[in-house]
This record gives sequence, C-alpha cells and structure tokens, in this order.
Amino acid sequence: RRASGGESWVGVYNPDMARRAQDLLVIETALMGALERNEFSLVYQPKVLLPSRRPSGVEALLRWNPPGRPPVPPDLFIPMAEQNGLIVPIGAWVIAETTRFAAEHMPPSMRMSVNVSTVQFRDPGLLDAIDAALHASKLKPSRLELEITETAAMSELTLAIEAIRNMRNIGVRTAIDDFGTGYSSLSYLTRLEVDKIKIDQSLLPKDGDERMWQVLNAIIELCHAADREVLAEGIESEWQAERLAEGGCDKGQGYLFSRPIPPDALRAYLQREVG
Ligand code: C2E
Ligand code: MG
Ligand code: MG
Ligand code: MG
Repeated sequence: RRASGGESWVGVYNPDMARRAQDLLVIETALMGALERNEFSLVYQPKVLLPSRRPSGVEALLRWNPPGRPPVPPDLFIPMAEQNGLIVPIGAWVIAETTRFAAEHMPPSMRMSVNVSTVQFRDPGLLDAIDAALHASKLKPSRLELEITETAAMSELTLAIEAIRNMRNIGVRTAIDDFGTGYSSLSYLTRLEVDKIKIDQSLLPKDGDERMWQVLNAIIELCHAADREVLAEGIESEWQAERLAEGGCDKGQGYLFSRPIPPDALRAYLQREVG
C-alpha cells in the first residue's frame, strides 16, 4: 500500500535518485577505509579578536580527499560518519593531530578549537581520548576548545550538560557552535556551562537591515549577561566586522580575515601576524 497518492510515489522513483543512492553507497564504502589510508587532512581557520583583529586561535576543519576523486565536503561525509559510528575513530585522530600541531606550531597565546558531534560525546571513550592527546602533546588543557553545535546540544541536553561539565573539570574549554540555527530557549543557554557562543552566519545581516542588527546586538548583550564570550562566524565584509565590533562582539571568524588554510600556510600566517 502506498502512503500517499500513487502519482507522487511513482515520481519519487526516478533514475536520478537511484543514482544518487548508489553514489552515497560508493562514498560510504570508501569512507570505511579512509582513515587507514591516510586520506584525511586538516585545515585551520583563524579566529580574531575584535576590534584589534589579532588572531586568538584557530578552528580545525576536517577535509577528505579520496585519491582520484573530487574532495567530499564535510557536510556530506560527517553526517555519514556519525551514522555509522566512524566519527569516533576519525574524531580521535582529529584530537590527536590538532593537539600535537597546537603544541608544536602555535604560540602559547593561541587556542585550538575542534568540532565534536553528539555521537562522540555519547562515547564513553571521548574523555580518555582527550586526556591521552593532552598528555602526549603536553598541550595545556585550556588551549583546547571543543565546539558542540546548538542542535546537537539540544537534542541530547542531559548528555551535553554532562560532557561540558567533564571538559570544564579537566580544564578544556567549550563553545556552542552555529548558535541561532536550532531552538534553544534562553534558560538552556545558562544551563550549558560553555565558555563561548559562536553566532551562526545566518544571523549575520548581509545588508543594512537595521532591525536585524538590533537583534544581533541584543543577542551579544544577552550572551555577555550570561557571562559567555561571543564570536561571530562567517564574516565576509569589512562593514560587518565594524558593526560587530561596535556591538561589542568579542571575536570574529570568516573569509574576510582568512579562509581555512593548510598547516604550512597557517604557520606562515602566524609568523606574520603573531611573530
Ligand atoms: P562549522 O564548525 O560551523 O564550521 C564553519 C564552516 O563555515 C566551515 O565549513 C568553514 O569553512 C565555513 N566558513 C568559514 N568562514 C566562512 C565565510 O566567511 N563564509 C562562508 N560562506 N563560509 C565560511 P566546512 O569546513 O565545510 O565545515 C562544515 C561543517 O562540518 C562544520 O561547520 C562542522 O560542523 C563540520 N566539521 C568540520 N570538521 C569537523 C570535524 O573535525 N569533526 C566534526 N565532528 N565536525 C566537523
Ligand atoms: Mg565549528
Ligand atoms: Mg559554525
Ligand atoms: Mg556549521
């Protein structure tokens, strides 16, 4: 029996969909062995203080380059890796790699941020993996920051509260990522004991929409009232950076300052910007 009208059911089964489903299967199969084959790499996007624009840290962003194929975007392979659990070993690799890089190549004033997903903080081994990476690299825990998306935190609130508290206990910092894209009530904002709120690019006005700027300034004030640091993501224009600085936003990140760049380019950038 068909769930809805026969015509729409037939319409769903077009050759394009079948191809796409098969493509996804091919990609997932390749993903299984990608870690062992060393196909992942990391790029780093600087975060800067506002208004000075001095770099304060970087965010690590995962890249997958299967040989002989075009790179697969994170928005495609990360949800896949979350579903099949591969994100746990991949995430452990990211944590080991980034802590080592930060300890060896970044000035002590700069912090390394790493994205973690719900599947990772549901895994009881996460804390140990972080502990081991901090020990092996000798990176000060306060120089590591974990980013958890608002949607992930809200979908597993109790777990998120606990994971954030565990990180706080070992001195690792935490941030809410993509703030403004999910539904969190204001009371949850205070229950999640994070150090930082990252405001999603979608909340950043692209033009002179005064009402949107008022709303954004109010969000910045609200975060400060809750004693959270505020960073705006996806800053692409000069005047966005200026308006945000005027509104009291602490930090910014976006193509205006730098795109995500490979390790060598980051070292050159840091040499230039920090000395
Ligand atoms: P995110 O953590 O919110 O990262 C920000 C995304 O915005 C990145 O996309 C970055 O390249 C992009 N971006 C930065 N500045 C600008 C800008 O000025 N304009 C525009 N249009 N985009 C900008 P990317 O690298 O494709 O990553 C997508 C998402 O994949 C990330 O969103 C994050 O949720 C996830 N991700 C990336 N690496 C990891 C990882 O190692 N582990 C996990 N669990 N998730 C990751
Ligand atoms: Mg992030
Ligand atoms: Mg984000
Ligand atoms: Mg995002």
